[in-house]
Amino acid sequence: MKEQIKTLVALQKIEAERTQIQTHLQGISMHLEELNKQISEKQSLIECENDAIAEKRKTCGSLEQDLKNNQALILRSQERLKSVKTNREYQALLKEIEELKNLNTKFEDDMLALLNEIETGETLISTAAEDMQNLSQTLETEKKSVQKETDSHESRLRKLDGERDRFSMQADPSLLKLFNRVRSVHNRGNAVVPAVDSICNGCNVNIPPQMYNELQRCQSVKLCPNCQRIIYWLPS
Ligand SMILES: [Zn+2]
Repeated sequence: MKEQIKTLVALQKIEAERTQIQTHLQGISMHLEELNKQISEKQSLIECENDAIAEKRKTCGSLEQDLKNNQALILRSQERLKSVKTNREYQALLKEIEELKNLNTKFEDDMLALLNEIETGETLISTAAEDMQNLSQTLETEKKSVQKETDSHESRLRKLDGERDRFSMQADPSLLKLFNRVRSVHNRGNAVVPAVDSICNGCNVNIPPQMYNELQRCQSVKLCPNCQRIIYWLPS
């Protein structure tokens, strides 16, 4: 039984290191993913703003065309002013010219506002493009710098996998099953803990005297009545 407990303790140590490495590697990959996400966000911002600018240019172009058409109408009306016969006709033409001019002023204001928006959009794009480039550079640098670390962690993981297989084969199958079950209950934490001076080191609660006596004889596997971890006796 003592040997079996030793095997489980060794297995637990291996599992703990594996979990630690996996968590670390996960952290690295999450960080790289986050950078990638930020890059694509900048990318879509640029695309979106480019579309908006194209739309605004189109509107600007059609306003410009309207403006030119109105100018032609104004010129024509001004020509007609010279040949009108009645005052009423004259007043009507003046009113028409005035309205066209007002309309053109509005068109010019709208165009100016659009041109301003386009300029703001272009600044936004160039800032986003710069950010994107910086982020890409950071990503590349970080990828390179973590590559070596990742490689060494992965080779350590492979070694640990081998050791885990070796110890798993040494362990009694039903005990191994129990170990894995207890471990999963405890969120991949410790499943085998020593009991010192009648106290379970997993939960720090007293073990009943009779159970503790049996534990010292090392005859069978015991579970802590409080935390349900596998306990073994460790002389104080
Ligand atoms: Zn306990």
